[in-house]
Amino acid sequence: MKLNIQDTFNKELPADPITENYVRQVENACFSFVTPTKTANPQIIHVSSEMLENLGLATADAQSDEFKNVFTGNEVLPNTQPYAMCYGGHQFGNWAGQLGDGRAINLTEIVHNKQRWAIQLKGAGKTPYSRTADGLAVLRSSIREYLCSEAMFHLGVPTTRALSLALSGDEVLRDVLYNGNPAYEKGAIVSRIAPSFLRFGNYQILAVRNDIETLKTLVDYTIKHFYPELGTPSKESYLQFFKKVAENSLEMVIHWQRVGFVHGVMNTDNMSILGLTIDYGPYGWLEGYDYGWTPNTTDSQHKRYRYGNQPNIVLWNLYQLANALYPLINETEGLEKVLADFGTSFETKYLNMMLSKIGLFTEEENDQKLIQELENNLHLTETDMTIFYRNLSRFSKENPGKGITIIQDAFYGPIEQLPEITEAWNKWFNKYSIRLQLEKGTDTERTEKMNAINPKYVLRNYMAQLAIDAADKGEYGLIDELFNLLKKPYSEQEDQEKWFAKRPDWARNKVGCSMLSCSS
Ligand code: AMP
Ligand code: MG
Repeated sequence: MKLNIQDTFNKELPADPITENYVRQVENACFSFVTPTKTANPQIIHVSSEMLENLGLATADAQSDEFKNVFTGNEVLPNTQPYAMCYGGHQFGNWAGQLGDGRAINLTEIVHNKQRWAIQLKGAGKTPYSRTADGLAVLRSSIREYLCSEAMFHLGVPTTRALSLALSGDEVLRDVLYNGNPAYEKGAIVSRIAPSFLRFGNYQILAVRNDIETLKTLVDYTIKHFYPELGTPSKESYLQFFKKVAENSLEMVIHWQRVGFVHGVMNTDNMSILGLTIDYGPYGWLEGYDYGWTPNTTDSQHKRYRYGNQPNIVLWNLYQLANALYPLINETEGLEKVLADFGTSFETKYLNMMLSKIGLFTEEENDQKLIQELENNLHLTETDMTIFYRNLSRFSKENPGKGITIIQDAFYGPIEQLPEITEAWNKWFNKYSIRLQLEKGTDTERTEKMNAINPKYVLRNYMAQLAIDAADKGEYGLIDELFNLLKKPYSEQEDQEKWFAKRPDWARNKVGCSMLSCSS
């Protein structure tokens, strides 16, 4: 196995001088060296062939013992020095102090085809940042992270990627419902890949500790490697850096809203400095279109991270990042402008995204109202987001009266007894049909464009759960099936129609399907 190793993070940034692996506060450093814990019986269950290629590896490499051992933490690559990053974060709105890679261990960075990739294992054992936890991950959450990160990439959403999914062979104790009933589960390790795993929290912890020197070193490092167009360090380039991060984060959350992805734990330690979706925990996919929905049971009371609140939370998190960067800029004006621009920029981008979902690519006077009425209608009765938009592409502007028939598969309950719902939709379809007359192109052309924006297949919560249940019994076929299905989320896949269906009733209130916790 030959990787073009080119480490920067653990070479250019200050390291924790202590190399023993015990829990502690780590100051004046960006990371601590740590070796992954060896596992009882590592077994690779799935590999992403695309990510293999991206790293410059061959299919045969993935079959080697070396691959298995390296990507489960049982062997350290020559000339590399694994490490865990130091970061803090605001959790559910409150500053939580030092968090850090408590169960993620970065192996190395490689460059292939001019692209830099950091390779990280999730669930490979304790680090100085593990606090009171075990540094491990269970199979169910690892399957969810593995499948979803690759699915998001193919949906066109900025995201960290995944290379491999493995069983560790160890048992891991978890109290899934936090109700005092812990049970043993299979341990697993995902190898995750991204240009960088830096989070808002990496900068925050340094600012909170008033370690401005290390903060500057880290920001300079980030600009040099990931925002090189911003040039040499200066107050101006730091401000531009913040602006770029704001733009990238906005882009990311607009995509989330487009595909109906709910992250579930948008703490500042889970916000990537590159605007990538990071840390797939108790995330979920909207089924019924509902601004108020969150998959995370830990958040069921305040629903801070509900679908409709995600853009606000990105902005809230950006405020925290602005505070962290302030000591390098010493002026609030520029930072405040970026934050203010976020709001206006969001309005425009969100509207354009929503218009594109209904096949409108120009903007007319009453479009905002048309979208508002659409969203109101979608909330009238439980209406499946994915099915609705996908089927809407079949709407013909010549025949608005047929609209309701076209979308009826998206309704979870019968609407025959609810004339007000039919009426609201008929009204909307009439307006929509008139609006479509102003749009260039034929119905067929619109169908095609809409189908490239509205996915047919997403990783519905129950689908991941089916794959988990099978994998628990040692059957991994469904992981492979879903992995391949979700590589082409916008394509019709005739033999896979079964996955273009509403959530089955059994999954409505099932743990893992609609109720997820942070216990992973
Ligand atoms: P999360 O909410 O999963 O993003 O995690 C928040 C913090 O808890 C991060 O610092 C994680 O590294 C840490 N953490 C989560 N699970 C574990 C675990 N099993 N062992 C050690 N640290 C963990
Ligand atoms: Mg996290």
